[in-house]
Amino acid sequence: MAWDFSTDPEFQEKLDWVEQFCREEIEPLDLVFPMAVRSRDPKLKALVDPLKQQVKDRGLWALFLDEDLGGPGFGQLKLALINEILGRYASAPAIFGTAAPDTGNMEMLAAYGTDEQKQRWLYPLLNQEIWSAYSMTEPQGGSDPNLFKTHAVKDGEEWVINGEKWFTSAGRMADILFVMCNNGMFVVPADTPGVEILPVPRTHSHIRYNDVRVPLDHLLGPEDGAKVLAQRRLGGGRIHHAMRTIAQCKRAFDMMCERALSRESHGKIIGEHQMVQEMIADSYAEINMLRLLVLWTAWSIDNSSTQATRTQIAACKYTMAKVLREVSYRALHIMGSLGTTNLTPLQAMYAAAPTMGIADGVDEVHKVTVARNVLKGYRPHEGMWPTEYIPAKREQARKKYAELFANEPELREHADRIEEYLAARE
Ligand SMILES: Cc1cc2nc3c(=O)[nH]c(=O)nc-3n(C[C@H](O)[C@H](O)[C@H](O)COP(=O)(O)OP(=O)(O)OC[C@H]3O[C@@H](n4cnc5c(N)ncnc54)[C@H](O)[C@@H]3O)c2cc1C
Repeated sequence: MAWDFSTDPEFQEKLDWVEQFCREEIEPLDLVFPMAVRSRDPKLKALVDPLKQQVKDRGLWALFLDEDLGGPGFGQLKLALINEILGRYASAPAIFGTAAPDTGNMEMLAAYGTDEQKQRWLYPLLNQEIWSAYSMTEPQGGSDPNLFKTHAVKDGEEWVINGEKWFTSAGRMADILFVMCNNGMFVVPADTPGVEILPVPRTHSHIRYNDVRVPLDHLLGPEDGAKVLAQRRLGGGRIHHAMRTIAQCKRAFDMMCERALSRESHGKIIGEHQMVQEMIADSYAEINMLRLLVLWTAWSIDNSSTQATRTQIAACKYTMAKVLREVSYRALHIMGSLGTTNLTPLQAMYAAAPTMGIADGVDEVHKVTVARNVLKGYRPHEGMWPTEYIPAKREQARKKYAELFANEPELREHADRIEEYLAARE
């Protein structure tokens, strides 16, 4: 019997350490120095670097990578259990070397980079000596890659890139940009002449690539391979987001339950009012449904591959947005007027839910993926009636009893009477 939902004690110890470390060291940093993790200010680095070192000393750095690339090689299921904790704290992914968008870019480098490319970019990214961003979406449309226009042309010993990208997260802080062109994925140092970062939006950059020249060895993976690399990158990123979203949902749920026990209205604590109980009960079930979906998907990736689990990852992607939206809304609502302010994290969590449904591909596109792949496992029914059409199935079933009916007319009459009775009720 292989189904098992338990965590072995040795790994539980690691989880306990992560939980305590995040609560005692990372939460205060989040509250007082929220931008410190990516800062190049030596005084802020002096706060952050010792925390990273503690993580490294524990063997918990770059959890998403295999041992040969500097990670612990835990696999996705263990990563999910850790990310369920890290996702509560904004700075935690960076302090554990697992922050987006760098993780996805590192995964591409690890899978498709030459040894030289890994030396030049992967290891410095891994050590957070440099930062990266991912330029795929274009202003005219993000959901359909066939609309992308950015293109590279070979000119002697260089590629010349022209195009316009939109919503490149952390683009302004990046040292290198992974630029998806129609004919390949390119690594572009951010200070290359022709890289023009527009003033807005600030966090997710609008970037023009104007005759940007990079050496030939800045092509990552095969020529014309950009879509394959993008799928690989985005698949990993989506499941990591889903793992961290469980943490956000649980955080909202904890706030909801604490409040339900702390406030009174109309003669009883609000947690005794049935409509509040319904919100708690629904949230409990939905969070656990999401969690099981994500853990099952993580386990499936460990036992097959990201590509083979595309359907499951897509299901996690839109389910996480939905559960976060529902649970954070209920928690905010139960918090009353306080919930509508920025004095608790709930308003920001609720505002993040639509983002979850858009970033890394809009919900609709993921639902299409799921439905299409699920339908591949089905066939149309033969003839007029569906397979579960009861009269046809009953007729088949009666054939099984043909001999019995011949020997026992009473049983046949009994079956006929039931059939007549059911027919009369239709
Ligand atoms: C927080 C955040 C971070 C991001 N970071 C990055 C990044 O680092 N790099 C990067 O390249 N991009 C990034 N993006 C962009 C993201 O990938 C795109 O926003 C996303 O792919 C959707 O593209 P779009 O915004 O152009 O919306 P559109 O493609 O214009 O879609 C708009 C709406 O149209 C509908 N729609 C679209 N297609 C379909 C369909 N096939 N079926 C049914 N309905 C459909 C949906 O309702 C959808 O919400 C980020 C986005 C967000 C929100």
